Amino acid sequence: MPDRRRKGSGEDVFMQSLIRDLVKEIGEDPHREGLWQTPERVAKALRYLTSGYGQEVSEILNGAIFTEDCDQMVLIKDIDIFSLCEHHLLPFFGKCHVAYIPKRKILGLSKVVRLVEMYTRRLQVQERLTQQIAQTLKRAVQPRGVGVVIEAYHFCMMMRGVEKQNSKAVTSAMLGTFQTRPEVRNEFVQLINHTR
Ligand SMILES: [Zn+2]
Repeated sequence: MPDRRRKGSGEDVFMQSLIRDLVKEIGEDPHREGLWQTPERVAKALRYLTSGYGQEVSEILNGAIFTEDCDQMVLIKDIDIFSLCEHHLLPFFGKCHVAYIPKRKILGLSKVVRLVEMYTRRLQVQERLTQQIAQTLKRAVQPRGVGVVIEAYHFCMMMRGVEKQNSKAVTSAMLGTFQTRPEVRNEFVQLINHTR
């Protein structure tokens, strides 16, 4: 696969030809003016939206884990997420809330956001995305507990089939004390719902 991509050359020849075929298959003329450069633009967009495949946890975390005596909840809420549903290749988007209770190790706040971005820029289902973020944070800082909640709207639900424009999917992953201690989970949920 990598040799077909010709990444970095500003071209992505194989993917562009696939998209040209797709446009034709839909019943359009890929050579008309408005569509002429579409394969190039779509290839570029898709590479960006799936750039999480080219990243690894270790390079994101590198040098960003610190020893600290903090044992209170750390919460990063309202992280905007944009991902692609792997069943329809249509976007889903919303908010992600990540919390953990450290056990002497903390992670740079911006790195939490970058972890979320890495996993969202892959083909996903919301359930797995939620778990991956929680499990990665757990492995990285071995905290007392981790909580991740994602609230998202799915274009595959909004634009087709049931056309439920206002239904939001909510998924959560609770590990450690977030799972075993209701008061911890409640604090997390209250902080998330607290009006901004
Ligand atoms: Zn879908």
